[in-house]
Amino acid sequence: MTAQYQVHGDVAVITLNNPPVNGLGLATRRGIVDGLERAEADATVRAVVITGAGAAFSGGADIKEFGTDKSLAEPNLHSVIGAVEQCSKPVVAAIHSVCMGGGLELALACHYRIAAPGCSVALPEVKLGILPGAGGTQRLPRVVGVEAALNMIVSGEAVKSELIAAMPGQKLFDKMAAAPEALADESLAFARSIAEARPLPLVRGLPASHPQGDAYFQFARNMVKGMAKNFPAPPKCVDAVEAATKQKFADGLATERELFISLMWTPESRALRHLFFAERAASKIPDVPADTPQRAIKKVGVIGAGTMGGGISMNFLNAGIPVKMLEMKQEALDRGLATIRKNYEAQVKKGKLKEGRYQERMALLSTTLSYEDLKDCDLIVEAVFEDLNVKEAVFKQLDAVAKPGAILASNTSTLDLDRIAAFTNRPQDVVGMHFFSPANVMKLLEVVRGKATAKDVLATVMSVAKKIKKVAVVSGVCDGFIGNRMIERYSQQAGFLLDEGCTPSQVDRAIEKFGFAMGPFRMGDLAGNDIGWAIRKRRAVESPDIKYSKTADLLCEQGRFGQKVGKGWYDYVPGRRDAIANAEVEKMIADHRASLGITPRKVSDEEIVQRLVFSLVNEAAHILEEGIANKASDVDVVYIFGYGFPVHRGGPLNYANEFGLFNLVQAMKRFAKNPLDDARFWQPAPLLARLVAEGKQF
Ligand code: NAD
Repeated sequence: MTAQYQVHGDVAVITLNNPPVNGLGLATRRGIVDGLERAEADATVRAVVITGAGAAFSGGADIKEFGTDKSLAEPNLHSVIGAVEQCSKPVVAAIHSVCMGGGLELALACHYRIAAPGCSVALPEVKLGILPGAGGTQRLPRVVGVEAALNMIVSGEAVKSELIAAMPGQKLFDKMAAAPEALADESLAFARSIAEARPLPLVRGLPASHPQGDAYFQFARNMVKGMAKNFPAPPKCVDAVEAATKQKFADGLATERELFISLMWTPESRALRHLFFAERAASKIPDVPADTPQRAIKKVGVIGAGTMGGGISMNFLNAGIPVKMLEMKQEALDRGLATIRKNYEAQVKKGKLKEGRYQERMALLSTTLSYEDLKDCDLIVEAVFEDLNVKEAVFKQLDAVAKPGAILASNTSTLDLDRIAAFTNRPQDVVGMHFFSPANVMKLLEVVRGKATAKDVLATVMSVAKKIKKVAVVSGVCDGFIGNRMIERYSQQAGFLLDEGCTPSQVDRAIEKFGFAMGPFRMGDLAGNDIGWAIRKRRAVESPDIKYSKTADLLCEQGRFGQKVGKGWYDYVPGRRDAIANAEVEKMIADHRASLGITPRKVSDEEIVQRLVFSLVNEAAHILEEGIANKASDVDVVYIFGYGFPVHRGGPLNYANEFGLFNLVQAMKRFAKNPLDDARFWQPAPLLARLVAEGKQF
């Protein structure tokens, strides 16, 4: 039973019981309506309390029912809300822990509300590209005021119940319980105290108004436009709340409904809902069941205190896990330590971290020059130079000192994890943990599964990732794993575009307009152009048939490695963050083009975007077919959380589905005919060709 009915003397209690957050699925909705009918029919019952079992009042819609017929089946949430409002006996919502979305809309329909302190109250629908569709935009302004309601609805952020209770004139809570433990008893007592009150108060009967209505909504619209340029939902939230102040309640509800339905079918909302599920699905590995036993990770070792090692260490310190950092020389340790301090101090200065917390974190960090000191670590993450010989020396020493069962992880970006694992006598304990720079900021973690990696090692690393607040995606072993293997194709195309007539800023602008956080050339300057240069030199030996534009090599020959040296594709001036176009670089590109006998042509922004994005898609299809990625949505998660792909497009493969795979392959065929491009490059991956032939999607 997902909703229980019990009678305590003269009060009936309906307890939602649909773990983990009492989602309002069909069975739960039925349970509420049945409970109300029983209470109506029982002459001894004078009042009804609706509450939630476990760790929530209700988190809202049941995500398991999203997009299924069940989510709309009767009684739907509107009917439940109608039944609550029309109950002839007072209905009291007893709210605690989590009261969100449909859960809050249900509570707003009750005649009275009593809340426990510490409860998170929110209407988070905007985060899925929609707006509250069961009266939330109409009722919330009536109880907390227009401004507070609009802030909650447009941001989707939770507000604690005690803060709401302190808002002057608020009518959301009729009473606050002294403590969460007291809620059950206090809600019964409260229900008895109002059992005979008539007429029963309804939120819909309260006024919603703003003293400077038009001016305020104009201001709100301007604010929202700036914040949410690619998302249609926030401005519609403003429209809905404005309707609450200008229309009769029933008309306002109808407006809300219309806006809700119009948003439901936008590509942006589909993208956000796709990502919501994709992120949850990423932690599930097909052959590693959820109940796989895990190894305890209480102490972590990090080898290398460079760019990555420092950031990786901070992740664990932030999660309260002690870290021992190892380097070859004291100077390197001192430098690494100083960088970590600098990062934390910047956070303290900005008020994002309390001084005390900073000190607590630093107290968890120790350093060493001796591998012996790592023998009690449960997880050791290696972040030394990207050189197989160096990795070999490190993993042999780790094999000699690490305790049995310790997980040995490498942060390598390009090297073969199976070869690294083979340097040890315990390849089952070796795994890749590929963090992204800056490692303390970027959310993505590629967990690289070697051919021998044990299932409990994977399960443990996935759960550690959650603890350190990363979004982890499993990748098989291949050059570049999921993300970098795809980005190489994208960079290749960016290079061809220069050869054909584009400038770096034209390419960057086009893809940034599409929504990328940063175009390929600004990104190259940030990551360091020398990294790609080294990879291309290696490729020239290993795979000489891969075609690249020479411009990036010419750039590196001039030492223009990017931001770290103040010049790359662009110039960088201290104190200014923007990339400044450089005439000499553009001349170098033009000269190179001329030396190839190419007459420059005007390339449209549309072509730039399609060539860059479809190159990602085609490589992703290879990656899926080879089983490097477990599922298409994992690729989207990698690109959203690691590469600044526009969130409102839902990742490269969601975008490909929206664009239409047939159309996409047609475009690839056109690109293949361009003599300056690479016809082989645009050969559709077998999986992509198959999906098109079968009329399917990723
Ligand atoms: P880095 O040069 O900044 O740091 C490497 C550190 O390792 C140096 O401080 C060096 O002193 C130390 N070191 C070298 N050999 C050692 C040894 N034998 N024992 C102990 N310490 C040793 O390099 P980085 O950018 O931090 O990269 C480290 C690893 O992370 C590489 O495998 C790289 O491919 C990977 N990676 C880098 C990035 C990035 O953007 N920089 C992103 C993801 C992964």
